[in-house]
Amino acid sequence: MKSHGEFAPGESLVVSAFCFSFREGRSAESQSLCPVQSCAMAETEEEEMVSAEASGFSDVSDSEFLEILDLDDSQESSASLSNPGPSSELPGKDGKLISLPKGKRGLDVSSPMERFHLNYLYVTDLSTQNWCEQQMIYGKEVPDFLVPEKAAVLDTGASIHLARELEVHDLRTVPITTKEDAWAVKFLNMLLMIPTLQSEGRIREFPVFGEVDGVLLVGVIDELHYTAKGELELVELKTRRRPVLPLEAQKNKDYFQVSLYKYIFDAMVQGKVTTASLIHHTKLHPEKPLGPSVLRHAQQGGFSVKSLGDLMELVFLSLTLSDLPVIDILKIEYIHQETATVLATEVVAFEEKEVRGKVQHCMAYWMGHREPQGVDIEEAWKCRTCNYADICEWRQGGGVHSSTLEPQAKKAK
Ligand code: SF4
Repeated sequence: MKSHGEFAPGESLVVSAFCFSFREGRSAESQSLCPVQSCAMAETEEEEMVSAEASGFSDVSDSEFLEILDLDDSQESSASLSNPGPSSELPGKDGKLISLPKGKRGLDVSSPMERFHLNYLYVTDLSTQNWCEQQMIYGKEVPDFLVPEKAAVLDTGASIHLARELEVHDLRTVPITTKEDAWAVKFLNMLLMIPTLQSEGRIREFPVFGEVDGVLLVGVIDELHYTAKGELELVELKTRRRPVLPLEAQKNKDYFQVSLYKYIFDAMVQGKVTTASLIHHTKLHPEKPLGPSVLRHAQQGGFSVKSLGDLMELVFLSLTLSDLPVIDILKIEYIHQETATVLATEVVAFEEKEVRGKVQHCMAYWMGHREPQGVDIEEAWKCRTCNYADICEWRQGGGVHSSTLEPQAKKAK
């Protein structure tokens, strides 16, 4: 999903950077109900084409892939960051040098949410932040910077995720022109997936969103299904370039990610997420009529709607009236990219208090209540493989940005 920032209605959108998936059910009953991929392009038969964009990738998950699709907004934002002048430069994808803003922003008193012009955060923003906050920030400030090896790993992972997704449904591309359309596609997908899940089917790429500590968090659950015992199980797929399991620190990041999915999903089905909160954070206009392509797909799905508000109402009703339970089991499947061998399946214990503590620590940064932090000294090994090691002010300062900053509290884990 790519609608972090604002974009002008009617503005033509780049196909590769702004697609959403409409997922076409395989069962006879759901043939006419088609989860969607939307795209700013002419609506022809080609809209049936499959787009890899619908899937996640690599060592990261589906939602992390979507996060990277959000680069245009981030780029826009980074260009308008308070501008004390570049402190360092990195080679970008095209070999040109990219200037990095200084980590400390002088007299700037705005929060990071405001500085980055973010309406909401992705679940993976928080899980990445849990790995190294400073690294996550550099990733937002220099969104173009991705070393080729990592890009290749991500591509391979995307293919694996796509193959998994195509096992349960086909994808359609739907042209869109507004962010309301983009969210409408997300809602249509949800409306189509909920009955499938209720009828004991397996669903993939289920969107989740909810307000946590005053910030809207958005994510995409890889897979949901019921077990033979009737428990609702979440499965997150992580692909690995080498046939080895990740280190504990990486696993902890993954555990936090799936725990956040459960945290938000549970709140959604318990009726704790409201349309007012969603509209407030996303600045969507629910009264705006939907675009013709989205309307057509809605009608094909059997939904008589005219605006985003109509769809929202249906989604929230569906979530609360469909008797969906909270998630019982959290699983992470680690798969070797080349051989598709399952390296391990980890069952994650959901520790609500711990998750809340981590979330509060993350949000304190986003709300501007504390300075960003890099890794603790005992986790300095993470810097060895970090793309930003050469320019990292935290690292150069031996674990602190500047003597003028408040003493750094030990990072909550
Ligand atoms: Fe974080 Fe170390 Fe990278 Fe700096 S060099 S961003 S502290 S991992």
